[in-house]
Amino acid sequence: MPEPNNILITCDNLVKIYKIAGLEVVALQGLDLTVERGALLGIVGPSGSGKTTLLNILGGLDRPSAGRVTVNGQDLIKLSAAALDRYRCNQVGFVWQQVARNLIPYLSVQENVELPMTVAGIRWGEKRGRAQELLAAVGLSGRRQHRLAELSGGEQQRAAIAVALANRPALLLADEPTGEVDSTTAQTILETFRRLNETLGLTIIIVTHDPRIVGQVDRVVAIRDGKISTETIRQVSQLERAMVGERLVEEGAAEAVTYHEYVVLDSAGRLQVPREYLEQFNIGDRTILEVTDEGILLRPVADRRVAATPLLPGLEEEPPAPRRRGLRGLWPRVRRRRSYDDRPG
Ligand code: ADP
Ligand code: MG
Repeated sequence: MPEPNNILITCDNLVKIYKIAGLEVVALQGLDLTVERGALLGIVGPSGSGKTTLLNILGGLDRPSAGRVTVNGQDLIKLSAAALDRYRCNQVGFVWQQVARNLIPYLSVQENVELPMTVAGIRWGEKRGRAQELLAAVGLSGRRQHRLAELSGGEQQRAAIAVALANRPALLLADEPTGEVDSTTAQTILETFRRLNETLGLTIIIVTHDPRIVGQVDRVVAIRDGKISTETIRQVSQLERAMVGERLVEEGAAEAVTYHEYVVLDSAGRLQVPREYLEQFNIGDRTILEVTDEGILLRPVADRRVAATPLLPGLEEEPPAPRRRGLRGLWPRVRRRRSYDDRPG
């Protein structure tokens, strides 16, 4: 069944296993993700959680071991090697953390932006015009003739964004694009992504360690152990958009933006309970699910022969008395993913 037209990316139970010298590393373990067209999505997560692996699969640089991944109506697993090459060249742009990987040092900024268009066979006049448009869009019109070494870190990354957009991709993937710059520069780079998302309607996924990403994008998903664990969604209330006559009321706009963090359930109904809650209630590898008026309660097991081993090191010896009020805050965060119902088959 084809995706609804507003959906650009669907990952369904995505698994990636790396095998090296007889050892297996499970980098993605059943990851589900749906991204709408025109979305600006942040991905956060500890080192080794599978963020780069996911971007490489979405960018057609690597293939998953199992599961399903669809981008722009194409099943990436079914694409031939040649079709996957064309996909990489024309439909997706990449910005890497290491600047050296994004730009060729002996070419000028403009030549760097033109290079992917040359590879795609675009004629000279169009190439020149499009490169200039893109450099204007990332605020580098005045740096066209500069080489890599003559640019600041922030300018290099903005040039890299222009290079990534050269062939008008539907999707821009950025892997820790602010990892090697100071925080002010990081802010400028994130603002550039945001502006491109708003003006071009481009779908952008930014992987980052920077917690401030939450304030820059509409939706942030957190990956833990190769799976999406939580999701934070930015919501703008009516207040910000209220019109009085012809005038857009901006007063109080800051208060009108709220963030909601949700625990994500996968298609089998599994969720990752945040570590701090497991610790707070001394829940080991077994728990009791109790249905209450308010929702579902996870209770620690009192019988220590059943409770078995704690999942986490450093837990207290004696389980504390259950504290109902503390869990109350957890319930509104749990919700079914919207895509759960829409998923075909
Ligand atoms: P992140 O980008 O979140 O830091 P990665 O996706 O790079 O995480 O890695 C996820 C896991 O997969 C890690 O345990 C990493 O060591 C392993 N891994 C990543 N790439 C390879 C590879 N090419 N070969 C073997 N193991 C890999
Ligand atoms: Mg990485």
